Amino acid sequence: MHSELWIEEKFQDFLSLKIKVEKVLFSGKSDFQTVDVVETRGHGKMLLNDGLIMVTERDEFAYHDMIAHVPLFVHPNPKNVLIIGGGDGGTAREVLRHSGVEKCTMVEIDAMVVKACREHIPQTSCEFDNPRLNLLIADGVKFVKETNEKFDVVIIDSTDPIGPAAPLFGPEFYQDVFNCMADDGVVVSQGESSWYAMDIQQSLLHVLNSVFPQCFLYNFSNLTYPGGLWSFTFASKKYHPLQDFNRSRVHNSGLEFDYYNCAVHKAAFSLPNFARKGLEGLIANG
Ligand code: SAM
Repeated sequence: MHSELWIEEKFQDFLSLKIKVEKVLFSGKSDFQTVDVVETRGHGKMLLNDGLIMVTERDEFAYHDMIAHVPLFVHPNPKNVLIIGGGDGGTAREVLRHSGVEKCTMVEIDAMVVKACREHIPQTSCEFDNPRLNLLIADGVKFVKETNEKFDVVIIDSTDPIGPAAPLFGPEFYQDVFNCMADDGVVVSQGESSWYAMDIQQSLLHVLNSVFPQCFLYNFSNLTYPGGLWSFTFASKKYHPLQDFNRSRVHNSGLEFDYYNCAVHKAAFSLPNFARKGLEGLIANG
């Protein structure tokens, strides 16, 4: 009898997702987390940090399109972009498709994530050697506190608020993010789930509202994060994600996407009533 290997991601204490594994490609433990890359049956290669699914080849385009192209098509002329986290490389890959972006700095705390993805998931890590990418292995919290640069777009591509990512959801971090943004800067952050983590969304939006004039939440659908519906937050010193969205920039870019388009951009900010109600007073698209 041959034994079958399955990855089971446990979420909170009442839900789990099981995916069949064909082969374990990498398993390691860094100073920050366990890092695994496996080949799955239905989702291609998959990265897990601390047993939680970060990325799968099958659906990563949804997350990376929506975290990158929404802010980059609202800001009228993004040249200098900062990514905090994002060690699989998918967000940097999408940012660098914008020819107007002159420099993209990516600050990932865990060298092991970068190395494992570089070796085993070229689909996301394919732009690590792009000369416009400044890839730093460092703590994003410290980086935003100390940098003298000003960024047009900041993208917080983090894990859940545990371990080294916990401060990435706090007020001090966002004050430092605000300080390193240009006067018309935009920041987008991994914003968890209205189904299963409304409390984290409320707390993150509360923090964002203490720093930025207006905050928004937008949704996208994916296969592997619990509940399927997932969110990003959007905040800016100046821009409204819909009123300042210029569709012609999307068409003129000549870029083609598997998930993002102008209608999706607009629809993503239309929230179901349970989310509007739970986030009342915290979002301008409520
Ligand atoms: N798409 C993913 C998700 O939502 O599950 C996130 C992808 S990416 C792999 C998240 C990365 O954030 C991890 O590689 C983790 O090491 C990194 N990270 C966590 N805390 C960090 C910090 N303080 N500074 C920089 N990177 C951090």
